[in-house]
Amino acid sequence: MTDTLVPWDDVLAAYDPALGLEVHVELNTHTKMFCGCPAVFGGEPNTQVCPTCLGLPGAMPVVNGKAVESAIRIGLALNCEIAEWCRFARKNYFYPDMPKNFQTSQYDEPICFEGWIDVEVEGETFRVEIERAHMEEDTGKSLHVGGATGRIHGADYSLVDYNRAGIPLIEIVTKPIMGAGAKAPAVARAYVSQLRDLILALGVSEARMDQGNLRADVNLSLAPKGTGGLGTRTETKNVNSFRSVERAVRYEMQRHAAVLDAGGAIFQETRHWHEDTGVTTAGRAKSDADDYRYFPEPDLVPVAPSREWVEELRGTLPENPVERRARLQSDWGYTDLEMRDVVASGVLVPIEETVAAGASPQAARKWWSSELARRANDAGVDVVDLGVSPAQVAAVQALVDAGTVNDKLARQVFDGLIAGEGTPEEIVAARGLAVVSDDGALGAAVDAAIAANPDVADKIRDGKVAAAGALIGAVMKEMRGQADAARVRELVLEKLT
Ligand SMILES: [Zn+2]
Repeated sequence: MTDTLVPWDDVLAAYDPALGLEVHVELNTHTKMFCGCPAVFGGEPNTQVCPTCLGLPGAMPVVNGKAVESAIRIGLALNCEIAEWCRFARKNYFYPDMPKNFQTSQYDEPICFEGWIDVEVEGETFRVEIERAHMEEDTGKSLHVGGATGRIHGADYSLVDYNRAGIPLIEIVTKPIMGAGAKAPAVARAYVSQLRDLILALGVSEARMDQGNLRADVNLSLAPKGTGGLGTRTETKNVNSFRSVERAVRYEMQRHAAVLDAGGAIFQETRHWHEDTGVTTAGRAKSDADDYRYFPEPDLVPVAPSREWVEELRGTLPENPVERRARLQSDWGYTDLEMRDVVASGVLVPIEETVAAGASPQAARKWWSSELARRANDAGVDVVDLGVSPAQVAAVQALVDAGTVNDKLARQVFDGLIAGEGTPEEIVAARGLAVVSDDGALGAAVDAAIAANPDVADKIRDGKVAAAGALIGAVMKEMRGQADAARVRELVLEKLT
């Protein structure tokens, strides 16, 4: 069944959107939240498990101090209050990938609450208020085998891998974000993107959306325009790229409007996002909190971080994001427009790393903000998931600076990098991309161009040096763009003047 969608402008004319974002961040601690099992990505299924994370009877959990530290640092970076005393709670529900029959989480006593972060969208600043950031554990992973979709419907059988069960998570929940109007999809994207930058700067997670260590759930509701109310929301789960966050918000706004326009009601439910088709489909009816029968976890002592420790951790925070952007803009000499573009494309961190790897800020911006952002957009992925690293971009630019390739040939080096053909140097060699600056080869091509264009040659002989461009162009074409253009120009002028 295909959803009816209302044209975008009609949605905006009739409704105000309210957004809410829940982002799960998988921490990069060495061990899991409540046991000593390694908390690393990958590994043979069910090899990183113990009685505690398998939920075997009698196993006793112990809180990972490093995870608490990371939670507090995230909270402080989000301008949150840090609880003086808080507890874990059991969130009771059955799911095959959660062997205890409950998830150890926090309920009415989160470790961090009442914060905010300013995000910038097209030069406008939106303050996103943070309701809470709490600690919990990840679940295992179910793998449904035999069906076409990878979902349980139509599968022959299912497998469960508990390696991920018990990995520390921080769930960051915003308050409803109102007033974004037409910018709601962009605000959602900017929030997740800028939150990721902050998490990376804190060093508390790898924050790879494609590997699921940063996952966003997108809540959306519409209210009739100007009423200031909140409509019934839907929650689109596990949206796994910045671009998809933006698309999912836009899709849900258009879908909600169609249901409401037709006099229907929105059901409070979770929805699945389909990356390939760009649509959402109904999941399960969303449980209210009381269905989970939360109660305080009796096997764990409360967490009571001392104020001295909190202040000590405050001292370890990275620069605040707004000041950081201002400093980088000034260091790099970018215009306001260039900087806005960089932030919007989500390439601030890659550019910073590319500059650290030796490229000039202008070169780093040129590749990330135009070339690679365009390719990512064409491929429908986030630029950080394209498969090109900052170090590789710096290496390509070093080849440009050394005159080995020009910008045009460098684009072919990026083709090779995305295709996984090796290092930039290997790709230049394998694809024969190096610029020719050898006078023998260039001289022959220049002679051929002069012979083929006698009128142009005469003009240059008569002193019209500007006409040399036509001959240089002919040589470049003949040599498939691989001639050293500056040297060709010198040879043309040497031969004709
Ligand atoms: Zn374990």
